[in-house]
Amino acid sequence: MQYKQWPFTEAGRILKRCERNGKTTVTAQTGYGPSGLPHIGTFGEVARTSFVLQALNTLAPNLETHLIAFSDDMDGLREAPSNIPNRDMIKGHLGKPLTMVPDPFGEEASYAHNMNRKLCEFLDSFGFTYDFRSSTEQYSSGVFDEALKRVVDNRSAITEMFVATISKGKRADWSPFFPICENCQKIYSTRVTGYDDANYTIDYVCDQSAEGKYRACGHKGIISVLGGTLKVGWKVDWALRLYTNSVDYEMHGEDLTESARLTSKIIRKMGGKPPEFFKYELFLDETGKKISKKIGNGVNLDQWLSYAPVDSLLYFMYTKPQQAKKMGLPIFPKIVDEYLTLIAGYDGQSPDHAAAFVTRLSKSGHADSGDGERVITYSLIYNLLIALNEPDPEIIRGYLVKYQPHITENMAYYDDLIDGVIRYYNEFYLPNKTEVAPDPALDPVVQKFHDELAKLGDKEPTADDLQTLAFTVGKENDLKPKEWFKNLYCVFLGSESGPKIGSFIFLLGLEKAISRLEKYLEG
Ligand SMILES: [Zn+2]
Repeated sequence: MQYKQWPFTEAGRILKRCERNGKTTVTAQTGYGPSGLPHIGTFGEVARTSFVLQALNTLAPNLETHLIAFSDDMDGLREAPSNIPNRDMIKGHLGKPLTMVPDPFGEEASYAHNMNRKLCEFLDSFGFTYDFRSSTEQYSSGVFDEALKRVVDNRSAITEMFVATISKGKRADWSPFFPICENCQKIYSTRVTGYDDANYTIDYVCDQSAEGKYRACGHKGIISVLGGTLKVGWKVDWALRLYTNSVDYEMHGEDLTESARLTSKIIRKMGGKPPEFFKYELFLDETGKKISKKIGNGVNLDQWLSYAPVDSLLYFMYTKPQQAKKMGLPIFPKIVDEYLTLIAGYDGQSPDHAAAFVTRLSKSGHADSGDGERVITYSLIYNLLIALNEPDPEIIRGYLVKYQPHITENMAYYDDLIDGVIRYYNEFYLPNKTEVAPDPALDPVVQKFHDELAKLGDKEPTADDLQTLAFTVGKENDLKPKEWFKNLYCVFLGSESGPKIGSFIFLLGLEKAISRLEKYLEG
């Protein structure tokens, strides 16, 4: 069978690699910087890598697969994040490796230990399967020693490759090593002054202060390159962990393309095989701007999980990772609808379908797959809330069950979805509400539509009947469908767009729809 979904393409690359190298175990890796809390990017990378491993397990069930969640916790702390307690205390430890900075929450052995715990809790809460690795542990236990020796043995070649990528002024001082000062524990204040490659030691001095952040202590010393007394700079560090853990596959953002290229070269120089890299594009907000923590645009993880079930986020991460996709609160209903509509048309069988990947990874349940008819979409619930002006989950649930009785078999999921839409309605719609008024020139046609609906009396029109009726009334009055439906949305929702009008009126109920039109026509 020829699979078309992208994780299968990726799995195919990994399989070829296994054939070339005679491997029966596959290791994928994702990296995490524990200076801040795990975020939507962390989630996306682990989810996408998990999709690839799923595909691999389908293609080659006998291969053993692992996913390493690697925490770069030897990295130094550059600034105290704004969202932590005891910031002043933390500021006194800037420049030190994260595992040597005290825990601002006073719970764990260090800042990094606390963040690492949060990372694991975070990944566990989604049911991801992974092996946690701490950089500090790998350095200090000697796991990295063999690779560190290779860096020393190839120091001049690595230096030559590296300095070609940095400015001329910085080349003379560049060293792969960042010693941890034995006196003040800082890693960013030190500088390598000499090498004894045969004995794997270096000379260093602690003389690099950072204005307003930390001061160097002036200490001079000679230390071993091995055993966790130093770390290597991050591109070499990336090579170190890929080499040591024999990583076969790793994803990275578009912004790290050059780094990945250099890291591959370093690994080859060390005598290893670079992994299969996969580059994904970064997210944009609804206007096309890059997502930035400072601006707070886009949708953050807490918002997403508060407004919609996690399977919708898994799907968002799944689709087209190599395109710069837009995400933002104004277009949130549309994003979730893409998923709900897609899964509603899934037969629940084929493994070569986006919904198959999402439903397998989503441990807390997922939306219904079925015949694609009468789909409960986010917009439908959202528009219903706007039209009813009554954010009561019981009422909404009653409406939805009438529209699509099957959902009672998966009610916990749909109750979650309703709660999420209500939060979105309260927190996003109400504060940003702008009413768009209908065109008064079309009032006579609205009146005709009202009369036609009233004529239906006790008949029980289907959503399709109502859609046809709306369409016909517009056509008979020489209105373009687009113009006419836009006007109907303005009448019912105070907005220029909405769900299929037939489904909407069906859901709202004939009686309520008629009285809504009467109220509007009376002015
Ligand atoms: Zn020092």
